[in-house]
Amino acid sequence: AEEWDRFTSWSQASGEHNRRASTSLPLGVTSSFQHWDPYPITIESARGAHLTDVGGNRLLDLSMGFGAGLVGHLNPRVVEEVTHALTSIGTLFVTPSSQATDMAERFKRRFDLDMLRFTNSGTESLMYAIRSARAYTGRSGIAKIEGGYHGGYDALQVSVKPALEDIGPADRPIPDAPADAVPGEVHVVAYNDLGQLERAFREHGGSIAAFVVEPVIENLAIVLPDEGYLEGVRALCDEYGVVLIFDEVKTGLTAGHGGAAQRLGIKPDLITLAKSIGGGLPLAAFGGKQEIMDVVVDGRMAHFGTYNGNALVMAAAKAVDELITPEASAGLEALNTRTLDTLDAIIGEYELPAHTVGLGAKGCVTWATGPVRNYRDYKATDFGVAELSWLWGVNRGVLTPPGLDEQWLVSLAHTEDDMSVLIEDFRSLAEALR
Ligand code: PLP
Repeated sequence: AEEWDRFTSWSQASGEHNRRASTSLPLGVTSSFQHWDPYPITIESARGAHLTDVGGNRLLDLSMGFGAGLVGHLNPRVVEEVTHALTSIGTLFVTPSSQATDMAERFKRRFDLDMLRFTNSGTESLMYAIRSARAYTGRSGIAKIEGGYHGGYDALQVSVKPALEDIGPADRPIPDAPADAVPGEVHVVAYNDLGQLERAFREHGGSIAAFVVEPVIENLAIVLPDEGYLEGVRALCDEYGVVLIFDEVKTGLTAGHGGAAQRLGIKPDLITLAKSIGGGLPLAAFGGKQEIMDVVVDGRMAHFGTYNGNALVMAAAKAVDELITPEASAGLEALNTRTLDTLDAIIGEYELPAHTVGLGAKGCVTWATGPVRNYRDYKATDFGVAELSWLWGVNRGVLTPPGLDEQWLVSLAHTEDDMSVLIEDFRSLAEALR
């Protein structure tokens, strides 16, 4: 209660703004993820690794747009390329452009894809990846992970965050909100459970077009694959003719130079990308094997979008592609690893019921002593302390993602000193919890 009093006192301007915004925008926000109780912090501007809110408070940003801000806010290279597009190229032609072809070639090389198409959001990419898989297989069913979030497309807005009291056997799909219905055939399986996946494929394989999975789950803080899990997934999808879709909207460039698939050495059939590839602009993509992308070539599936591959986002993507070199990825990971190691030492020193998890440039503290391998393990973590930890940070000028299910991102703009601020905040929380 003391920390909430502190919060409502320094963030009064955001509270007032949210009251005004709530009269025109449901909850005062333009994506339900932007809302949290009692109200979200309203940001006025961002630069590098910092945000300034409507009350003039400066915050260290470790949320970085759910990972979209990999190169930092207003990265000079992004600003330069986007300004060039705005002043000398144009923004939107709805015709082919050399910028889109150039970026497609770069993405092919980087992510080891045969072909890809650009979209404007992760949701759209997932929708089209599934549609491609359905056109390719002639089947309509989908398998997804319990607790997995893949954007707002109906077929995937299922068993995203089901209440534990509602879930019986994991393969019973549950609409995410009362307004949603389970669209068509959706099978839900636990992450890291090959037995459950095999059972679903054995019983329904003939009707399942695609298995959609984040190779590393980054919507339950961070949950890593058990050794052999993704290899087993690959083999089962091959055996049952199910298209394997890796949703790399969150992992992508934050997981490493070529994304999580390359890092982990497993090749999916299709991949979806968004967030980190766009330098803060709305760019997403889906792509993969030639024989599947051929459904667009031969007209079994059409893929549309007025803004797809527009010159403005292509300009930003070019800058990101040039900035995120293998050396840059290694640098981000090294800083993140040092941060995680120091936090682990503090957890050990204070005997906190927590552990850290990291992948590439992202990390989190999970408030559980045992391993978290799937959604049900994750739900058993201590969200009371997790919330206190978030509140403690933001009250001291460090904004980690408010959703608790997210993780921090070390961007190109973050320095050793910035990460020390996170560490010292965490140490003071550990002291207070003692
Ligand atoms: N897939 C994953 C794994 C995501 O985390 C998200 C968004 O957070 C999406 C898809 C949807 O992306 P977008 O918000 O760009 O529609």
